[in-house]
Amino acid sequence: RSVHVELGERSYPIYIGSGLLPQAAAYLIKHGLSVKSPHLVVTDDKVAPYHLETLKSSLQAAGFRLVISIVKSGEGSKSLSVFENVMTDAIQGGLDRNSSVIALGGGVVGDLAGFVAATYMRGISFIQMPTTILAHDSSVGGKVAVNHLLAKNMIGAFHQPEFVLYDLDTLTTLPPREVSAGLAEMVKHGLIKDEAFAYWCKDHAGELLALDLDALGYGLERGVSIKADVVSQDEREGGLRAILNLGHTIGHAIEAVGGYGEFLHGEAISIGMAGSALLAEALGRKKGIYAETIAMLTALNLPVILPEHLDEDDLMEAMMHDKKFKEGTMVFVVPDSIGSVSIVKDIPQQLVRDILKQLRKGGE
Ligand code: NAD
Ligand code: ZN
Repeated sequence: RSVHVELGERSYPIYIGSGLLPQAAAYLIKHGLSVKSPHLVVTDDKVAPYHLETLKSSLQAAGFRLVISIVKSGEGSKSLSVFENVMTDAIQGGLDRNSSVIALGGGVVGDLAGFVAATYMRGISFIQMPTTILAHDSSVGGKVAVNHLLAKNMIGAFHQPEFVLYDLDTLTTLPPREVSAGLAEMVKHGLIKDEAFAYWCKDHAGELLALDLDALGYGLERGVSIKADVVSQDEREGGLRAILNLGHTIGHAIEAVGGYGEFLHGEAISIGMAGSALLAEALGRKKGIYAETIAMLTALNLPVILPEHLDEDDLMEAMMHDKKFKEGTMVFVVPDSIGSVSIVKDIPQQLVRDILKQLRKGGE
């Protein structure tokens, strides 16, 4: 399977399938990467023991020289200090303009390695080899970044990869919570743009959770295609791209108030998507959106209830810090029905508070 991301001269393919990592060298060669220059592989210490050897063997057998940079697993590695360490490896390893940075890992490694690729000598080639389901989202769109202590993703760039190599076999080592969290972004893509796909995710939840390769391959291809579609119409987040934020206003607030670590990103946006569905019904959209949405999310083992201990004022405060807030009203991505959303700009704060209350009680 492969999906083409259309971005004019920055267009690129996403290859999705089983058994791709052992053939990595062939893909690098096909995309014109040279064995004369060293290439930097960035990965983390949870992914490396499972999958680094497979990648190294393929590349080294074809004569590629590699510099390996292994960072600690977790969001903490999206920092300027880790960025600097990886840069040190790149410089000491003698990377030049024809070198590339290869990200082998989830969204953290992808965002970090991508920012290194965007900035090393003002930009060199970038290749993504995602190893999480969530990374089907982060590997499309070209947004790369590290965090600042005061704000997530604040230091970054747009840098599109040469190609994405998505080997489904790497996903079989993912912990179950990470599987569900990744599927939250998959079903999100259905909820914003493709009703049939949203229901497909629910109907195939068992296979997806069991990491059935056929189901995963199809689900990731659809998820990636929908994201690619949105991104090619709006590469730099002018407008349309905002629909990708379904569930993220409340979700980001949950992550921030929960102190990053209590909830995985996918879990937080799952509760956020349940909240958006409640908001839709409160605004008089089609009845049943909430029931349908939470049925999909719970089928994927995702949470849909806002826990008591997350304080309402703290959540409101966190949402106001989010850029989506203006003068007493808030901007939300609101479902019109399953598979279609619109951006609503003047949601009163009081309504958001009401939704948060309902969200604690499962919609009561
Ligand atoms: P992650 O990279 O932290 O991976 C999740 C966890 O799974 C980590 O502990 C990792 O070590 C482990 N892991 C990864 N692959 C594994 C495998 N195959 N087997 C076993 N363990 C494995 O996080 P993520 O959920 O992939 O991505 C989250 C990050 O992505 C966030 O930093 C978020 O900001 C970013 N993101 C970026 C974009 C974008 O457009 N750039 C979009 C969405 C999310
Ligand atoms: Zn997200």
